[in-house]
Amino acid sequence: MMNAIATTIVLAGAGMLVGAMIYILKLASDDSANASQLRQFVEVLFNGSSNRQEAAAAEEEEAAHRKRLAEQHGESFAEPCPACGDTVTHENAYCPSCGLRLV
Ligand SMILES: [Zn+2]
Repeated sequence: MMNAIATTIVLAGAGMLVGAMIYILKLASDDSANASQLRQFVEVLFNGSSNRQEAAAAEEEEAAHRKRLAEQHGESFAEPCPACGDTVTHENAYCPSCGLRLV
């Protein structure tokens, strides 16, 4: 008898959970303005928005790192000529001032 009651309670609880889930998802798939807020809430609930923010920050950092690397590896730079000190860029194969070969 106790088993039957316990099973009934568990089943009722599970059924209510599933029902609430379906209700929220149904509201979230609605296209009203109210639903978009709820959809964000659901997305946070299931995906974790902090994870996405961290991923975006990491991506940004990676892009900045790539840019620094590109500058260091001479894809794009502007620095003084080692011989005469005139500013030369990645577009100059030879120093325009003293003719030193740069690349
Ligand atoms: Zn020079």
